[in-house]
Amino acid sequence: MKLADSHCHLNYKGLFEQQGDVLARARESGVAAMLNISTRESEWDDIIATAERESDVWATVGIHPHEADTHPDVDTAKLVAKAAHPRVVGIGESGLDYYYDHSDRDRQRASFRAHLAASRETQLPIVVHTRDAEADTADILREEVGKGALPGVIHCFTASGEFADIALDLGFYISISGIVTFKNAKDLQETAVRLPRERLLVETDAPFLAPVPHRGKTGEPAFVADTCRFLAQLRGEDADALADVTRENFHRLFAKTRA
Ligand SMILES: [Zn+2]
Ligand SMILES: [Zn+2]
Repeated sequence: MKLADSHCHLNYKGLFEQQGDVLARARESGVAAMLNISTRESEWDDIIATAERESDVWATVGIHPHEADTHPDVDTAKLVAKAAHPRVVGIGESGLDYYYDHSDRDRQRASFRAHLAASRETQLPIVVHTRDAEADTADILREEVGKGALPGVIHCFTASGEFADIALDLGFYISISGIVTFKNAKDLQETAVRLPRERLLVETDAPFLAPVPHRGKTGEPAFVADTCRFLAQLRGEDADALADVTRENFHRLFAKTRA
């Protein structure tokens, strides 16, 4: 099995103290590509440094919606400038989180639009985080894609089937996390079964959301194999084949990883 983990946080507490071991276990489990995701400006240099050191790890630059209030100065120009680094292959994570509301909603929306503009300008995919904010996320994505096409992925997808259809219509990919393995995730499982395989990615969002049978542990990229196996069984597909498809999708979407 050869996999890509489209979304992890290798610099977060729980992983960064043992990054070498975490990467070794990922490789043993067949993880051949990992995307290390930024959430704050203070992480950018560390995240890029990991990607410079490890040939199978790439970086994004962006500001999580939780952090929109603390980064009023991160605009499109700043994102575009940092994204010029050869190991930066995406923009984000950015989006809207009305579940926690850690940042003012107007600020979240403004930050999201700045990231989408950076994605349009660089043609690097936007990594979208959306929670309890489907309507606004859909409206903003429609408007911004309407100004000019941009590639992207809805990460850690937990939204409705209707939202999945909107995202697919806009050309987005959908990334499935370990949540799909949870007993109470029936709605997500129903959606995940019918997603077109050529738009499907898998991720861990490590150190969060460890899938069954690792629940309660610190999540790590190695566990993306369990999510992929579960998803394959759910969809009635061969797990190795689904790993290949999702990895190929990852490299097609994040095209700069092929450089
Ligand atoms: Zn997220
Ligand atoms: Zn994340």
